[in-house]
Amino acid sequence: MSFPRLSELTGCLADYDPHALPVEKAQQIIREFVAPVAEVEHAALLGALGRVLADDIISPIDVPQHDNSAMDGYAFSSACLSGAERVSLDVVATVLAGERCNDEIRAGQCVRIMTGAPMPPGCDTVIPQELTVAAPDAVSFDARAVKAGDNRRLRGEDLKAGVPALAKGRVLRPADLGLLASLGIAEVPVRRRLRVAFFSTGDELRSIGQPLEPGCVYDSNRYSLHGMLSRLGCELVDMGVVKDDPVSLKAAFLAACECADAVVTTGGVSVGEADYTKQIMAELGDVTFWKIGMRPGRPMAFGRVSSNGKSACLFGLPGNPVAVMVTFYFFARNALLRMMGAEDAPLPLLRVASQSDIRKKPGRTEYQRGILSRDENGVPQVRITGAQGSGILRSMVEANCIVVLGDGQGTVKAGDMVDVVVFEGLI
Ligand code: AMP
Ligand code: MG
Repeated sequence: MSFPRLSELTGCLADYDPHALPVEKAQQIIREFVAPVAEVEHAALLGALGRVLADDIISPIDVPQHDNSAMDGYAFSSACLSGAERVSLDVVATVLAGERCNDEIRAGQCVRIMTGAPMPPGCDTVIPQELTVAAPDAVSFDARAVKAGDNRRLRGEDLKAGVPALAKGRVLRPADLGLLASLGIAEVPVRRRLRVAFFSTGDELRSIGQPLEPGCVYDSNRYSLHGMLSRLGCELVDMGVVKDDPVSLKAAFLAACECADAVVTTGGVSVGEADYTKQIMAELGDVTFWKIGMRPGRPMAFGRVSSNGKSACLFGLPGNPVAVMVTFYFFARNALLRMMGAEDAPLPLLRVASQSDIRKKPGRTEYQRGILSRDENGVPQVRITGAQGSGILRSMVEANCIVVLGDGQGTVKAGDMVDVVVFEGLI
């Protein structure tokens, strides 16, 4: 596989302030730089949740296969409805779901029918049983209670044979598994899983279980990353904490490129950073060090690192725990999805009224952690979680959304509408 050089994509950056690359520009370069993995495998339906479809799925059958009843009731020909006030019909047969009635039903006749049972020949309408008065072997009902075609599901109304049921690039969701099952499809072509290696860098980091000496912090980023990457459905290669020394860093990057499609690191990419992370990244590949016009998460390294003819896409995220999560969600996530073969699905933004003023400087994008709720009239509103420092991971824990304040936005006044990305979805 051949990859573009970053310099081919970053020509446009000359026009921008090197100290504040616009978020959208960085996102665009990343999108153009990454490519989907080519390999396709077959996944059994029950193992296919979250996998990315590698091909369109064309429906092999009509669903449902026959016109059928949507209610428990009586099927008949609607010809008897015109002009009549009350209709009385002889019940000549019963048809349950899974059975078929092959006899032509004539004028004056009806069939007792259950939900899902195929419509008998000659019938086009179903009267629900609760609207009928039953007599031995007959029913009567008010002709105005139904119209021709009521309570009948049409053959192929869910899916018609030969039409695309699911498109290539779809990340399979629960309803998709059900839909595929309704078509009798037992396995689907999916892209192979993306392998992502990740490690934390920093001499001050301690792993859980080690004593926490003065000046040290526990490595939390690797755990947040583990969670975020798992949610995307990536295969994970956890490389632990790597010390700020050139030998360890180089060994880690080389091992990562040889086993993974992408490598995500945290720390060591800040301006004026005294460690070796940036130096080794630059030595091993085609890597750019951005200062993005955003908060939190200004510094970020991006590119491709190579070893022995193998290469991996690099996301060198900043070290601060909130910055890691924000840069992951707003830069790495889309890129990784694209590498997984998924169709672009931009995060949905809601417009919601801010409950209070939010201080904000124009010229950069801010991702403030927010709590979405409803006011006393049920109208959605958002407030920020309080201290927004990029080291305050609690702000991500307390939040249920991120308030995205774009480049042009200045200070927000209480009641102003702001864009919000919600953490939880139904599916
Ligand atoms: P850096 O970008 O390496 O300068 O790190 C910025 C801040 O994030 C420093 O206060 C680090 O201690 C902190 N930090 C870096 N990596 C981690 C990590 N893996 N877990 C928790 N905090 C970290
Ligand atoms: Mg550091």
